[in-house]
Amino acid sequence: MEAEVKEQKRTAVNQLDSLFKPKSIAIIGASSKDLSIGNVIIKNLVHFGYKGPIYPINPKEPEIRGIKAYPTIFDVPHDIDAAHVIIPSKFVPQIIEDCGKKGIKSVIINSAGFSEMGEEGVVLQKAFLAKAKEYGVRIFGPNCQGIINCDPDYNAYCDFTFTFPKPGAISIVALSGGVGAFIMQSLFDLDIGMRMYASNGNACDVSISDVVNYYGDDEGTKAIILYTEGFANPKEFMDVAKVVAKKKPILAMKAGRTEEGAKAAASHTGSLAGVDIATELIFEKTGMLAFNNEEEMCQTAMAFSTQPIPKGNRVGIITNTGGPAVIATDELVSAGLQIPALSAKAKEILTATQLPEASIGNPIDVVATGGGAHFRSALDVLMNEENIDSVYINFVTAPFTDTDEVARQIVEVNKMKKKPIVCNFMTNMSMERYQVTAKIMKDGGVPCYAFPTTAAKALGALYKYHKVSTRNIGEAKVYAEVKKEKALAIINEAKKEGKSFLSSSHVYQLLSHYGIPVADWRIANSIEDAVKGAAEIGFPVVVKADAESLVHKSDLGGVAINLKNAEEVRAVVEKMKGKFNAPDLKFFIQKFMPGGRELIAGVSAKKELGHLIMFGIGGIYVEVLKDVVFKIAPVTEVEANEMLTKIKAAKLLDGVRGEKAINKASVIEIIQRLSQLVCDLPMIEEMDLNPIMAFEDKAFVVDARIKI
Ligand code: ADP
Ligand code: MG
Repeated sequence: MEAEVKEQKRTAVNQLDSLFKPKSIAIIGASSKDLSIGNVIIKNLVHFGYKGPIYPINPKEPEIRGIKAYPTIFDVPHDIDAAHVIIPSKFVPQIIEDCGKKGIKSVIINSAGFSEMGEEGVVLQKAFLAKAKEYGVRIFGPNCQGIINCDPDYNAYCDFTFTFPKPGAISIVALSGGVGAFIMQSLFDLDIGMRMYASNGNACDVSISDVVNYYGDDEGTKAIILYTEGFANPKEFMDVAKVVAKKKPILAMKAGRTEEGAKAAASHTGSLAGVDIATELIFEKTGMLAFNNEEEMCQTAMAFSTQPIPKGNRVGIITNTGGPAVIATDELVSAGLQIPALSAKAKEILTATQLPEASIGNPIDVVATGGGAHFRSALDVLMNEENIDSVYINFVTAPFTDTDEVARQIVEVNKMKKKPIVCNFMTNMSMERYQVTAKIMKDGGVPCYAFPTTAAKALGALYKYHKVSTRNIGEAKVYAEVKKEKALAIINEAKKEGKSFLSSSHVYQLLSHYGIPVADWRIANSIEDAVKGAAEIGFPVVVKADAESLVHKSDLGGVAINLKNAEEVRAVVEKMKGKFNAPDLKFFIQKFMPGGRELIAGVSAKKELGHLIMFGIGGIYVEVLKDVVFKIAPVTEVEANEMLTKIKAAKLLDGVRGEKAINKASVIEIIQRLSQLVCDLPMIEEMDLNPIMAFEDKAFVVDARIKI
């Protein structure tokens, strides 16, 4: 079985070799018109120095851009590895069949007019896909830009864009060609080399997951930049990303936060999960680095393309100017980095080697008059210091120092690649003298940033990758004693009755089947029932009006707490009977559990992905506070723990101003049991446990709703 999976994966990778490392390329729809895609692609291939033969295919032209053209692919007297297709969509199915017959392995369909164009296009897309499957041709696109491979062995510029990157270690995959192109341009402007590029448009066959998988296996790719607007097959993507993100950093960005889910959802969890947060949760769960800002993402890529990953969060700062070190410190600390004191030995060396006015500590202030030797001794000390994992430098090009020498010293240490270095390089780039200094830094692979915050953020990201790549969330716990069959029977019964919300008795039974502790309860149809139930539970009790139409009971006066005796219960039930005239009105009698911290846990189903689990501060103010976090089910113990520490009011759980801490373990267990419950019962749409009353020793659910 495992061997089979491996074999499949190997075949997939080999197939994509014909796309990313094409030995020869045909341009079906090659054109002699300068301003056409069928011409630009040939021009780009030639300009970029493509290593293989190019076969323009055109029924009329004998040559295009000086290259011999052929009327059809069958007229080409050689094998063809890959092809561009740039012809009207209605001819594409036939051409794909021809490509199959010719033995072409990969086809980039630049043409538009498929699934993005409505019904007719969908039919055409299905038609050519069927042909592709039949002949084992991989399809890239349609309606796409293409791929680029900057490896000098290939120089394959199978794309119609206009940026010609230098070879490097960053590979890009972007669904949107527009975003892909500006990311590529931005790396170029920052002088960061690129390895591979892929923008797959409609992505009908080769998916983002396939490309990420391919980059993961590509030795020349050090880091991946990914842009998407969501995933067609999120589960497949998660499987791939989980593996690749352990091997190399994936810097990811997603746009298109929609309000689609925010439309009035029936439960708290549904409305709080309304904005499309699923993609960000996928990034988090798989250990990718998420960015909201495309510029920051590209800037950060500069550090990833040149620097090793730090082994911890302790940073040493070298500065030759005061203020920027303060700004950097703020940013570094908020990224979770520490700035530890230096050892006595380090201080001794620094005292002996630095200028008398230098500040010996962390930061090490070599002062503006400090030169190459002073920077070097500070760098050497930090590289040898055991409790330092990375180095942040502020380097202002003071006119009275030999800035080139400072740069050379930084570069020399950087080349050893012992610990990551980032540099906030402050200068006047219009002066020739400093351009020379800057070039020494860039050529030496030192990531230079114009602002302390940008440099510090880049170092923060390197550290974050250390954290996520070494993080092990473990496997989700399976509680063996749960009663899945009984729970399923409850849901089927509710379905048969045509209900979309489970009745209270069903809700609490279901929770009990999954070992989720609930406050003792009874359902009563009459005043006498209510009094009897209350006595059985033991006073004080709570009485809640119970009917499918009553959603937020307390808003309507449907919750009466702390009822101390039969008389009080009787009076409350009487009053509620008069107030609510729902035909299915019943009374929910419950143990009164005062003094707990009110928490919420919930569930919201997401198409193709499964369920999101929510946790946060609960009670009636949950929508006002919005202090909740989400994870994708199944949630492991590590993740459940993270949920408790990630909410803003995490400290409340430990108790403030003399309060007792709540029993976190029992809440963590409820989250995990809830996760198992929805994984077992995927027909659950939404679920709210609000509040969960958490105490020093235990936690109980006192209100719950389940939508199927
Ligand atoms: P709803 O959410 O429909 O308004 P709840 O059952 O959540 O109704 O009750 C509202 C509030 O009443 C809870 O947030 C909690 O403060 C309090 N409450 C409800 N049940 C209990 C109980 N069994 N013990 C203590 N307090 C309760
Ligand atoms: Mg409630």
